[in-house]
Parts: sequence; C-alpha cells; structure tokens
Amino acid sequence: MRTKIVFTEKCLGYGSWHVEGPERVRKAHEILSGKGYEFLKPEQASEDDLLRVHDSEYLWAVKKGLVEDGDTPAYDNIFEYARLSAGAAILAAKVKAFSLMRPPGHHVGRNGIALGASTRGFCYFNNVAIAVKSLDKPTLILDIDGHHGNGTQEIFRGDNKVTYVSLHRHPEYPGTGTVSEGNCLNYPLPRDCGDTFYLKALDKALCTVDKGKFEVAAVSAGFDTHDGDLASLGLTEKAYRGIGRRVAGLKKPTFFVLEGGYSGESVGKDIDALLKGFEASG
Ligand SMILES: [Zn+2]
Repeated sequence: MRTKIVFTEKCLGYGSWHVEGPERVRKAHEILSGKGYEFLKPEQASEDDLLRVHDSEYLWAVKKGLVEDGDTPAYDNIFEYARLSAGAAILAAKVKAFSLMRPPGHHVGRNGIALGASTRGFCYFNNVAIAVKSLDKPTLILDIDGHHGNGTQEIFRGDNKVTYVSLHRHPEYPGTGTVSEGNCLNYPLPRDCGDTFYLKALDKALCTVDKGKFEVAAVSAGFDTHDGDLASLGLTEKAYRGIGRRVAGLKKPTFFVLEGGYSGESVGKDIDALLKGFEASG
C-alpha cells in the first residue's frame, strides 16, 4: 500500500525569510502531488499530547513567545503552528504515514534547549517524541537527519521502551551524539561521506538493534544530508531509496516525520525515493 502524506498549507504561513522557511515544504508538496501521492489533513495536538513530552512551563513559554534564540525565532502564533506540526506527527503515527510539516522537532528537549546545545535549532515541540508517546508502544526511532537529534536523545535516554539510533555529521551543530549512551546509539559520520559509506554505517547500526524489542519504527526524516545541503553527507536519491529499503526490512509498522532538508526540490525527490524504496520491499 502506498504511504500517505500528512500535510496542510497552514504550515506555510510563517518565516519566509528564514532558512527553515515555507518554500522547502511547499516545493516538496508540489513535487509529491505531481507524483500522485494521497494527502491527509492533520489536526492540532492537544495540550495533553504535548505534556507527555514537554513540561508545562515550557509550553507556557512557547505560547507567550518567550523562546527566541539565535536560530529559532519567536514567530507570532508559533505555538499554534508547532501544535499543528506535532498533531501531524501523531496522525502519521496512527495511520503509518509521512508527516510533511514544519516546524521540525528533534533538537528540542523536555524544556527547550537539550543537552547543552547553543539553540533549539529551528524546533519548538519534539514532534517525533510526541507521536511515539501517543502510541505508547516499544519503538525504534531512526533519525536520519544530518544533525544529531539531541532533543530526542534527552527525552528518551534511559527509557527502556525506546531505542534511538542516529546517523549524523560530526563535527556539526549541536555537537552531541559523538558516542552511544545506553539506549541511544549514535553514528557520527564525516562530511560528504557519500551513499556507499552511509548505507554501510546504516547497516551496521541496524545490525546492533534487537528487532524483537520494538513493535513500531519511527523515522525522523531529515534530508539535510543531501549533497550540498546544510549538513551534507554527500547523499543522492539512491541513498534515500536504500534507506527506505532497509527501514522496510525491519518489518514493523512505520511512520515518518519530516525534520530538516532545506532545498524543497531535493526534499520532494528524496521523500519520493525513500518511500519508493520502503514500498518496494514492504
Ligand atoms: Zn538537520
């Protein structure tokens, strides 16, 4: 069955001057529409959904616009946008779909900045964590964004229901994820390592995971690993297809949540490659 995509144009309404701007998602949506994908409209996450991951003080601060940092502006109504992105991730988890929404989430921890990072890296609520908590099942989170998901690691470190696996560029923002810690397995990779090197690292990472331990796979799907993007690992569409095949090989109900990826054209094509790889083997 073809993976559906969760999207609403409401996520395009802010931040047009920022690198994490609406064009990246608008263009990706246009490309995926042209390829015949079916789209689902999300609803906002409830405050109870958000509170399974974040503290109430942090929710209040986002609501009041008190969370500006050097990378992450306090846009008007960002609480509503961030809630909708979290709600889209919850829907994607429920129906095993791909959430094509912004803002992204994996750098934000329980109370905002995570594990000593300098900023929240364009993130407000940790969408993938909120979605995983909404299902409340043993889950493998595979984070393929080019940056380490320090927020996701902070939220789930020591949680024996969740295994977190991240492949990311090092050295690079946020500077975490250089070693594995307990249930958080980290694979720092050199800049522009290329498709073959990357897929070998992914095979190694997935080999170490006890597949009997989890019932669901969640993919933090960032595409800034694409050749020339913000955290380039020199990847091409071929790598995303290979990632999709490997995720399908886990043989678990799977959902995907967009993280980074700053060229909309590449994001659209890479999502299609990832899902084609996933479906070809599913
Ligand atoms: Zn990233």
